[in-house]
Amino acid sequence: MEQARTMPALIAHGGAGGRGPAAERPERRRGMLAAVAAGAEILRGGGSALDAVIAIVRSLEDHPLFNAGLGSLLTVDGSVEMDASIMVAAPRPQSPPRAAAGAACGSAARRVELRAGAVAAVTRVRNPILLARAVMDLTPHVLIAGAGAERLARRAGVPLCRPDDLVTPRARARWRAALERRAETSAGAEPGDGSGRYGTVGAVALDAHGVLAAATSTGGVSGKLHGRIGDSAIIGAGTFADARGAASATGQGEAIMKVSLCREAIAMLGRGGPRNAAERAIAQLAAMTGGQAGIVMIDRRGRLGFAHNAEVMDVATFDAAGGFEYRWASALRRGGRGAAANGA
Ligand code: ASP
Repeated sequence: MEQARTMPALIAHGGAGGRGPAAERPERRRGMLAAVAAGAEILRGGGSALDAVIAIVRSLEDHPLFNAGLGSLLTVDGSVEMDASIMVAAPRPQSPPRAAAGAACGSAARRVELRAGAVAAVTRVRNPILLARAVMDLTPHVLIAGAGAERLARRAGVPLCRPDDLVTPRARARWRAALERRAETSAGAEPGDGSGRYGTVGAVALDAHGVLAAATSTGGVSGKLHGRIGDSAIIGAGTFADARGAASATGQGEAIMKVSLCREAIAMLGRGGPRNAAERAIAQLAAMTGGQAGIVMIDRRGRLGFAHNAEVMDVATFDAAGGFEYRWASALRRGGRGAAANGA
C-alpha cells in the first residue's frame, strides 16, 4: 500500500482573472513569494500544514494588491464583504489491529479526520481566514455568516476593524470604473462577470506528519450584490481536503459552485497526478458552465499542480526538490514543477 510521503510541500495562488496593470506585477510577485516563504518556514520547522496555509493566506490578506482582507473588491454598494474557508485532513492515530483492518479494506478515507471552517459575508474582520479557523476550532459548525461570525470573532479574540479600514483607494477606483461600465451597457452587467477581477488568495500544503490543509480567502467579485456569497466560503467548491489531497480555487464563484470544483478535482486525482486532475477539472467546469476559474492542488505524496482558463493566474510553490518558484501563468497553461518532476 502506498504511504503518504512526509516531504512537506505547498502551492499558493493569488487569483485567476484579467491581467491587471503591468506596474503591479513586481509587487504581486514579491507579495506571493513573501507569503509562500512564511508558509515554507513553518513546514521546514516541522510545523503544521494548517499553520502554513493560514500564514500564507493571512500574509496575502494583509497585502493591499490582493482581493482578500485589506484591498478586497467592493460590492455594488461600495462596501467590503468577505468570504473565507479552511479544511484539514489529518491521519488518525491508529492502533495496530485497526490499522490492519483499514489496510485490508483499503480505505484511506476512514483513517483521516476531516475538519473544516468557513465564514461568509463578513465586513469587519481584518483576517477572515483566522475567523474561519475559529469556526473550525471553537464551534460545532462549518459555516457562519455575517453578524454571527463577527460575534464569534469577539469571543475568539480575532481582531475586528471598521469596514472602511479594509477599503483601499485602488479598490474604490475599480468600483467606480465598474459602475461606469455598468451604466454604459443598457442591460447592465451581471454581478461577477467583470474581466478585471483578480486577486483572491489561497494555499494548500502537506506537512511532515502527512496532514493536508487548504485555505481560501476573498473579497468576492467586483460589483456583487449585497449578501452574495461565493465559492470561497463553500467547502467542496472553493476549498477542499481529504485523504487524497487538498485544493483551493479562484475565479467565477457561480461557476465553481455549480460544479463543486475542488471536490471534483480531488476525486480526479485517482486517475492521474494533481497536474492532470487540475486540468481536467477546469476543462469540465468550462464545458459545463462556460465559466472561468483556476485551481491549485497537492496530493498526499506532496505532488503539486495547477490549471486555469482565465487570462492569468499568480502561482507560487515550495517543495524540497525545487525550493521556491513563482509563476505568472498565462491562459490555458497548466503545470506545477513538482507534478512534472514526479511524472504526473
Ligand atoms: N471565487 C471568488 C468569488 O467568486 C472570486 C475570485 O476568485 O476572484 O467570490
